Amino acid sequence: MADSFNFAEMSQDHFRRALATDILLPTLIGGPFFYFLLEKIRQLAVAKVELQRLASTDSLTAVLSRGAFEMLVEAYLERARAGSLPQTGSFLIVDADHFKAINDSHGHQAGDQALKLIAGAIKEILSPADLVGRVGGEEFAVFLPAVVDDTASRTAELIRQRIRALPFPRDVGEGLLSVSIGGATFRENTSYEELFKTADRRLYEAKASGRNLVRMSI
Ligand code: GH3
Ligand code: MG
Ligand code: MG
Repeated sequence: MADSFNFAEMSQDHFRRALATDILLPTLIGGPFFYFLLEKIRQLAVAKVELQRLASTDSLTAVLSRGAFEMLVEAYLERARAGSLPQTGSFLIVDADHFKAINDSHGHQAGDQALKLIAGAIKEILSPADLVGRVGGEEFAVFLPAVVDDTASRTAELIRQRIRALPFPRDVGEGLLSVSIGGATFRENTSYEELFKTADRRLYEAKASGRNLVRMSI
């Protein structure tokens, strides 16, 4: 900015132009330009938060995406290990029954609608501290921090019943949708993988015993 003023033999005309270009212009433009930059940085920060929200939400059902769900459960288990949260809780896998047949007879779009209804029904049962994610095509997982024993089984049973009563498809009424639920409860150090494996084993039992059932390891 002070470059022009290094020339001692500057003419009056040059001096006036130097004043305009090296001092006046930067002073006038500097403020708004700085404000413009700050505004752009703020917009980028807002966009970043929105992108993070989009990446952590399943676009069809609006529950957590698989990755976000796993990350949050692991974060809870980590803090429980460190002693800052109770090292107890439950993990449920909720799998829609015969969903391929539902798609085949009512169409993929109706199937999508059914998945939205199922996700909504699960969310209605849960408390704000609980987590729900879509961990597969027609498969959801639920994490109930500090919830064990009968309370966990009751929550799973409520989810099963609520989904059974969903009005789908609209012209037929309730009774077509159902889910099988496998659950695992923990009272000591565990991992996401371990919880998933145990709950998945129970889910398999619920399917093998006829579906529309809850099976828990409590
Ligand atoms: P099971 O009772 O043993 O779970 O039977 P299933 O038919 O539900 O299980 P399977 O794994 O054989 O099929 C899952 C079906 O879910 C097949 C797939 O087309 C459907 N599906 C997965 N993701 C979506 C989706 O996003 N939208 C729709 N409409 N269907 C989906
Ligand atoms: Mg299924
Ligand atoms: Mg499945």
